Amino acid sequence: VTRGRDRALRAALAVGRAIGESRVITDEELLERFAGDESDQEPVQPHAAVIPASAEQAAAVMRIASEHSVPVTPRAGGTGKSGGAVPVQGGIVLSCEKLTTIKEIHEEDLVAVVEPGVVLGRLHEAVEERGLFYPPDPASLESCCLGGNVAENAGGPRAFKYGVTSHYVLRLEVVTAAGDMIRVGHRPVKGVAGYDLPALFVGSEGTLGLFTEITLRLLPGPPHVSTLLAPFPDLPAAGRGVGAILAAGLIPRVLEIMDARCVDTVRSEGAALPPGAAALILAELDGSEAGVEADLQVAGTALDGAGASEILVASGPVERERLWKARRDLSEALGRSHSHKISDDIAVPRSRLVETLERLESIAADHHLTGATFGHAGDGNLHVNFMWDDPGLDGEADAARAATMRLALEMDGTVSGEHGIGSVKRQFLADELGPGVLDLGRSFKRLLDPRGILNPGKLY
Ligand SMILES: Cc1cc2nc3c(=O)[nH]c(=O)nc-3n(C[C@H](O)[C@H](O)[C@H](O)COP(=O)(O)OP(=O)(O)OC[C@H]3O[C@@H](n4cnc5c(N)ncnc54)[C@H](O)[C@@H]3O)c2cc1C
Repeated sequence: VTRGRDRALRAALAVGRAIGESRVITDEELLERFAGDESDQEPVQPHAAVIPASAEQAAAVMRIASEHSVPVTPRAGGTGKSGGAVPVQGGIVLSCEKLTTIKEIHEEDLVAVVEPGVVLGRLHEAVEERGLFYPPDPASLESCCLGGNVAENAGGPRAFKYGVTSHYVLRLEVVTAAGDMIRVGHRPVKGVAGYDLPALFVGSEGTLGLFTEITLRLLPGPPHVSTLLAPFPDLPAAGRGVGAILAAGLIPRVLEIMDARCVDTVRSEGAALPPGAAALILAELDGSEAGVEADLQVAGTALDGAGASEILVASGPVERERLWKARRDLSEALGRSHSHKISDDIAVPRSRLVETLERLESIAADHHLTGATFGHAGDGNLHVNFMWDDPGLDGEADAARAATMRLALEMDGTVSGEHGIGSVKRQFLADELGPGVLDLGRSFKRLLDPRGILNPGKLY
């Protein structure tokens, strides 16, 4: 441990000489803010934090870290839910907080070029001002950054119609573990020269390279959006409502589901939701005004047939934003309701959604925990929360998490729909991938990072 610390501090000194001492932090108190993220992973303080102001400076940091064999953990907004930005083996945290330039928004090419520290919500505003649209919208959009979004392949409610971050990454400038700068991908929307390397880097959780510039595909902004709320008497009925919307031939841009506890929590945060709802579907439709109006009718009929107690349409941007604010704050609000909470993220085939929801309720009851599930039902992506107050139940929560992962795999699903593996879910990855695929992943890692300095202790 001491040798590791000494080596990290020697590397930090060398970084200071190369890019300026003011860019290096070694003061223990100041290092605290680089220790944790928004997951259940215990924070771990790095030996140093480095805040480069350019891609070239970031490359210099990586070169020096490689020479000293010191771990480097990239960090963007620090909102990750799987421990990705936590420097579990100490070393250097490389923060993207000064890499915040939106370099270009090109209306004709429908492309944005950004640095990794740009906050997602800021990019949304900048492109929407020009009538353009960048669909990925994790609920953390006010504080997560594009670097973290690409590294986690972030999704969000709109992924159902528009896909996740990987669908929008055209080109990446990457600093390798050795400190070389490479560009993978292409600026035009089409291009098939060579292997699809952006696909390898997107979702690599900071373990294969450091992104310093990201070229993203944009879309024209949809002219009209409507939000629809449908309360249901129970969760399975809401699950059937999801199927009914799809069976009616609609692809809403958002198709979310919430159980009773989530509905109560959203209501307690000030959203005007109908009393008595034990489950809720939140759907959003976009397109031309006439098209959206027609789709609303079809969706209403489908939901009615599935047993919705009423259909409410949020009129106007203020009402929609109030609803979305409550939805975005849901995870934190659930956290406030009990002294302990773990949250998980799984995805199952949509046809298994109702069965999964029912079995999740049983898992919570079996382990004497309070369960709360919401999620992007259109994608089969569920956020499963277990809450408790009695510290004696900590072990039950671990067992409930393991049971949830087993359930996801039994349903032919995945242990992570969008939050990634990081350090928190490593123990479940082998069950999903099997030894052959695990070895393949480790081979990629060895090829790109032979010294194992990029975000060690994560993913594979
Ligand atoms: C309230 C809340 C709601 C959320 N909702 C959603 C949601 O709806 N959908 C969803 O997908 N996620 C959601 N998340 C999870 C989280 O916001 C996303 O995973 C997000 O993409 C993380 O971005 P970040 O900038 O905070 O990354 P960080 O937490 O800083 O880092 C995440 C990972 O990215 C790596 N990384 C960071 N920068 C770089 C870089 N420049 N190059 C290479 N690797 C890098 C880090 O090493 C780490 O492994 C939510 C989180 C919270 C707290």
